[in-house]
Parts: sequence; C-alpha cells; structure tokens
Amino acid sequence: MTIPTTDSAAFAGAQRELERQLDERLAVLEELSPFALPSIDPVAFQTAASHRAAVEQITAALNRIAEGTYGRCTRCGEQIAPARLEVLPSAAACIECQSHADAA
Ligand SMILES: [Zn+2]
Repeated sequence: MTIPTTDSAAFAGAQRELERQLDERLAVLEELSPFALPSIDPVAFQTAASHRAAVEQITAALNRIAEGTYGRCTRCGEQIAPARLEVLPSAAACIECQSHADAA
C-alpha cells in the first residue's frame, strides 16, 4: 500500500480536522485567559499552556499541508504511518522518532 505524500487531496480530511481542533483550542484559550495565571489559577494556567502548545503543533501541521511536506516525519523525513496521523493529525514525527524524543 502506497500513499502519495504530495497529493494534497489526501490530506483534506486531516486539514479539516486540524482546523476544527484549532478553533476548539482557541475558544478554550479565550475562555481561560482571564484567570490563566499562576497566581490566580495554577490549574487553568497549566491547561492554557498545554492548549497553547497544541495550537502551535496544529498550526505547524497546517503549514506542512500548505507546503506539501505533511505526512513526513520532521526529524527523519520518513513517512508517518497513516494510522498515526488519523489518531493524531498534528503529529510532526514518526512513532520511532517520537519515542526517542519522549525517552530523552
Ligand atoms: Zn522519524
């Protein structure tokens, strides 16, 4: 089974999903922002930080779709398993590179 990485139509679903997630995250961030400060609400602060990190990953993934590099590992350049992208459309690295990063 081969999946062409340059076929942008193949990632139309991923793009829609990423845009939906981006909207969702930004809405949560907007809601949290009044109290997302360590001195006011440390939990909200932590939550906002993780949402901000996710927004960055999602934005980067959308940029990769636009550039035609989506679906390739940003570390080793290998194809990311389609099943992984289905579960995590914003994944920037293949499972192997990610596991190295997590272990580090
Ligand atoms: Zn990799």
